[in-house]
Amino acid sequence: MSHSFYELTPEQVTAWFADRGHPPYRARQVMAGVYRRGVSDFAQMTDLPAALRAELAREFDLRPVTPDRVVQTSDTTKLLLSLPAGGQVECVRIAMDGAFTACVSSQIGCAVNCAFCATGHGGYERSLTPGEILAQVLAINRLGPGVRNVVFMGMGEPFHNYANVVSAVRRMVSPDLLALSPRRITVSTAGVVPAIHRYAEEGLATELAVSLNASTDEQRRQLMPGVARYPLAQLMEACQHFSAAHHGRPVTFAYVLIEGVNDTFDDAERLARLLKHQPHHLNLIPLNRVTHSALRAPAYPRLRAFLQACRRHKLNVSLRHSKGEDIEAACGQLRAERAGPAVSTNAKAARSQRSG
Ligand code: SF4
Repeated sequence: MSHSFYELTPEQVTAWFADRGHPPYRARQVMAGVYRRGVSDFAQMTDLPAALRAELAREFDLRPVTPDRVVQTSDTTKLLLSLPAGGQVECVRIAMDGAFTACVSSQIGCAVNCAFCATGHGGYERSLTPGEILAQVLAINRLGPGVRNVVFMGMGEPFHNYANVVSAVRRMVSPDLLALSPRRITVSTAGVVPAIHRYAEEGLATELAVSLNASTDEQRRQLMPGVARYPLAQLMEACQHFSAAHHGRPVTFAYVLIEGVNDTFDDAERLARLLKHQPHHLNLIPLNRVTHSALRAPAYPRLRAFLQACRRHKLNVSLRHSKGEDIEAACGQLRAERAGPAVSTNAKAARSQRSG
């Protein structure tokens, strides 16, 4: 049985061509065709000798992952993809500042089980391979101009799928594959402390985003039980390690504001203490309505007051509104709908609540 071309690293592609006596430029030609031009059938690579096209087609599966469902608004397109190995995954194309951003998933489901998230509520199924992560970017690129930015803010906790996410990032920045600038890739974590320390030393110059959402360990235990074993003090140490290893680069912290849970002036003061020694940008995000829970966003005056309190504490802070909440672009929602009515009531959760 042929195996997926998308699972190969550039080194493996190069080795395959070398083993068969083909010149190295042929490997680069094929990788550019697949990843830059979006070719999804070796027969279309007419700049290759016919015998080589046939050999590639015998050896590798190049079928693209195509969307089962597409939901679109003026600036956001959400795709539900069925993966050949089984399972469905969501990704989103977001138009912003004249360029496109791909918001990709790293897992089907998620074990962090955030109180405000449809994906977490649906449970964990499996982690995605590097090829399945890249396939989301390629599926989005087929919609039009290629994406310039990638954010790992879809379904799943990227650092619970560490090796495959790092491998996918390496392929995204590889000049032979997607050739994206590392600065235009953001890996977002709920706060898996050992993985943040490890990622700090990977030599990958991407951005790091952390879903903070709480100013005390008790709040985090309630809101994000799957990462509650890592106290905030340790989380901050890990973030400082990342910044120190990247010449003082700020970490983006997402803070979903929830009425009566984490929206007091004391919370703002505690946040200021937590972030005092940490290069940061803090994004405040009003909670999207989650129908499986009673949690809700604070009213607008409260949001403004919280923002101003953060500013008084000299935090580098913005109040964000999610893109895509009007098109059910919350992570896990399209998939939940396909799973049937029992789960579909979990709609409107929190892709955007991961986002910065
Ligand atoms: S918000 Fe992110 S980390 Fe939390 S359950 Fe949802 S997908 Fe997982």
